[in-house]
Amino acid sequence: MSLQDIQSRIHTAEEKAGRAVGSTQLIAVSKVQPNERVESVLNEGHRCFGENRVQEAAGKWPDFATRFDGLDLHLIGPLQTNKARQAMELFQNIHTVDRPKLAKTIARLAQELGHCPKLFIQVNTGEEPQKAGIAPRDADAFVKECRDMDLVIEGLMCIPPAEEEPSLHFSLLRKIAERNGLTGLSMGMSGDFESAVALGATHVRVGSAIFGARAYEI
Ligand SMILES: *Cc1c(COP(=O)(O)O)cnc(C)c1O
Repeated sequence: MSLQDIQSRIHTAEEKAGRAVGSTQLIAVSKVQPNERVESVLNEGHRCFGENRVQEAAGKWPDFATRFDGLDLHLIGPLQTNKARQAMELFQNIHTVDRPKLAKTIARLAQELGHCPKLFIQVNTGEEPQKAGIAPRDADAFVKECRDMDLVIEGLMCIPPAEEEPSLHFSLLRKIAERNGLTGLSMGMSGDFESAVALGATHVRVGSAIFGARAYEI
């Protein structure tokens, strides 16, 4: 599918849900994709991209940034504290704040660097042991803890379990966001972004539906 097809499916889902058309940001997930495919989406005028790994992003985006203005880059994969500084220098948004140690590191670096990316807290809505994210029952306390460190939290992010109905997880994420006064909802991928838009996603993360299948999974 083309970028335009995905964009128009998002707009249709927004209309159906009674939402303003254009109120959902499309993050084109470019991890593992060949640079030519990424470049062709850049040439279409798209500027909002997602990457899973700091190292991989560092290898491609500084070069694109010299040729394309106004990039809006989102880190959507797990972040180790020892990569936090590099991530904060590369990305305008981090979706995977998921533990106090990382939040503390980001807070300290924000003071030092004088700027901070937009931050989302990742919630492990399916409570899967292999997946990152704060447990739903600990989310309220963690939001407060981050705010006490003077971090501005934009919203919440989740990756539903592969074998479960995603809309249940999107609803749960939205409920946690609402009771914490958070407006950002990073949810929905290639297979379920329309349902995420219906449930209020402000950011959908779509990779393979735009770029085609990845050569390998990471
Ligand atoms: C890879 C990835 C996506 C995009 O997945 P697709 O199914 O290719 O759309 C979205 N979110 C996260 C966190 C990812 O790791």
